[in-house]
Amino acid sequence: MSQSLRAAVRSLLTSAPHRIICQTVKYFHASAPTPSLSPSSPLPQLVTSITEQLTEAGISEPHLSASYLLSKCLSSNGPCVPVMSRDWTRVPDDTCLSPAQIAKLETLVQCRLSHVPIQYLVGNWDFRDLTLMCRPPVFIPRPETEQLVEVIMARLPREHCSLLEVGPGTGAVSLSLLQECEAVSRITAVERARAALELTRDNAELLGLTDRLRLVLGRVGTDVELDLEDSYDLIFSNPPYILRKDLPKLSPQIALFEDLRALDGGAEGLDVILPILELAGNKLSPGGLVILEVDPCHPYILPEKLEKLQHQFEVEEVVKDFAEKDRFMVLKRL
Ligand code: GLN
Repeated sequence: MSQSLRAAVRSLLTSAPHRIICQTVKYFHASAPTPSLSPSSPLPQLVTSITEQLTEAGISEPHLSASYLLSKCLSSNGPCVPVMSRDWTRVPDDTCLSPAQIAKLETLVQCRLSHVPIQYLVGNWDFRDLTLMCRPPVFIPRPETEQLVEVIMARLPREHCSLLEVGPGTGAVSLSLLQECEAVSRITAVERARAALELTRDNAELLGLTDRLRLVLGRVGTDVELDLEDSYDLIFSNPPYILRKDLPKLSPQIALFEDLRALDGGAEGLDVILPILELAGNKLSPGGLVILEVDPCHPYILPEKLEKLQHQFEVEEVVKDFAEKDRFMVLKRL
């Protein structure tokens, strides 16, 4: 069992750095063996039993996870087909799983017990109107980032605009804008992590949104010249913005499995934000906007740093997220 489990996790994490795989396997060795699930159990009972196991292990949203995992193991579809969590009390009493399905379910439960995010296990997740594939270790889009799309849409400067995104991850924000806004005629997305760039490309292909999207592998803020256009109408990003002192507070499911480069913003959380603004100084005309998702401390600490940039910016607006936290900054190039 433990060997096949390790093989399953390894294949799940093929694109994950070695560090993550080692830590995951260590977790498996450390975790106590869980009671195995019985093929003769009716499905609602399986959900209850998995929920209990997950609850005992302190996994967040145990019932929802249990329901998704059961749906996943019953789905014969590929990773891009949405997996719904179902009401398992409404299936006929005599519905049971095959031994192969039970084995798959046990593996999925073990992975969840080891804190593998549900989005990676299911293989996709919804973001606004899109179903996006999610693969480790690419940053999983968060609910607050759905709002970033609205903040951007409400501030598009004109018809036929050309936008630049820094760090698309799964492609969630760019692909939503391309799908929802005809005014967006083109987006260039620059991403430093190859796995993320490939996932953005795969999601764009899946959704039929490749025509207006250009992907560039590269890192903002280095001396290496990026293959970008001369100017853009608006620049946006959900950059890594977590302050390094806050990284230890991340839950294990984030810290162990997601690419920390998408989260770690350095000492003040500004290590990527300031280079984005330097780039924006060269790529935006006066009046052009940079829209960023940020840490709530940034509206307080960023303004004084703006004076040291080559081009001048002013904070036009700070927008709160649904949790009433200062989460989005709209900056104007002067
Ligand atoms: N809001 C994210 C989190 O707390 C952080 C996102 C980011 O750094 N871009 O996990």
